[in-house]
Amino acid sequence: MSENVIIIGAGCAGYTAAIYTARANLTPLVITGSQIGGQLTTTTEVENFPGFPEGIMGPDLMFRMQEQAEKFGTRFAYEDVISVIKDESTGLFTIKTSSQEYQSKTVIVATGASARYPDIEGEEKLIGHGLTACATCDGAFYRDVPVAVVGGGDSACEEAAFLTRFASKVYLIHRRDTLRASRIMAERTLANEKITPVWNSVISGYITDDKGEVDGAILTDTRTGATSELPLKCVFMAIGHTPNSSFLGDLVDRDSAGYIMRTPGLMATKTPGLFAAGDVADPHYRQAISSAGMGCSAAIEAERYIMGH
Ligand SMILES: Cc1cc2nc3c(=O)[nH]c(=O)nc-3n(C[C@H](O)[C@H](O)[C@H](O)COP(=O)(O)OP(=O)(O)OC[C@H]3O[C@@H](n4cnc5c(N)ncnc54)[C@H](O)[C@@H]3O)c2cc1C
Repeated sequence: MSENVIIIGAGCAGYTAAIYTARANLTPLVITGSQIGGQLTTTTEVENFPGFPEGIMGPDLMFRMQEQAEKFGTRFAYEDVISVIKDESTGLFTIKTSSQEYQSKTVIVATGASARYPDIEGEEKLIGHGLTACATCDGAFYRDVPVAVVGGGDSACEEAAFLTRFASKVYLIHRRDTLRASRIMAERTLANEKITPVWNSVISGYITDDKGEVDGAILTDTRTGATSELPLKCVFMAIGHTPNSSFLGDLVDRDSAGYIMRTPGLMATKTPGLFAAGDVADPHYRQAISSAGMGCSAAIEAERYIMGH
């Protein structure tokens, strides 16, 4: 028997799609992958999700979303999807995990995008403790203290400019001696008095305080190999994201950075019945609330697709 909707991913987009499709009586199945609750389970306080004026811990918010989806009859399979194919003659999708195969009339892909980190020793433990990849999310926690952005592209420049609203000083650490951001963005960044470029440098280690929070970075000069210490309270990585969509093969088109391309204004992809929501299809915002919004839209589009077929 085929499912109506299979939602791949259990983050803000996946859970919201589940709430909507469950309330539409489509009895969705969510295949969660290994990170149940998604990226927000890796952070502490979330202050910008509407409805929580006092803030809410990331894992608590995601647990509440899961509970809400369950309340309306969502089912969960705690597995990783390894491939999705569509049978054009039946119009059904086959979703394969390591242990079984499912069939579904529609699929909502909500698998997120993983921020890239350079693989420095001890890094994993510091994510959320002075190491992050989201200035919009965490910038406001670092007021009147020095911080750094790592990267040299447009995103790094945008993050650095945003952080000047809070931090006492923003170091822009880049492995080369020129930015690869667009010219106007590079000029604006270098003209900003609060931003200090640190050229030809990479972070090779972190200094932590007695609470385990970042207290400084160890820099290595990419030309000489010489090391130095830079006191700071938070490092914002801006070296790109990897959207998690490789298991979809050619069912979707991707932009140059790997994000799933959607029909403009919709969550539909080039394959009828396959929808994409959240960070995996969003090179611009990558926020909890925007992902949730996309999950809602994808659910409504999936429901209409089923009604029309
Ligand atoms: C440290 C940190 C702090 C953040 N703080 C904030 C904040 O304060 N405010 C804010 O708005 N945003 C914040 N964000 C961003 C926010 O977490 C994301 O925008 C949001 O989680 C994206 O939701 P999503 O549902 O698209 O994907 P994700 O949350 O990334 O969820 C992806 C889901 O897909 C699953 N998955 C992946 N691959 C597979 C597969 N092959 N098969 C099955 N399942 C799969 C994963 O297991 C996971 O359940 C933060 C992010 C991080 C990393």
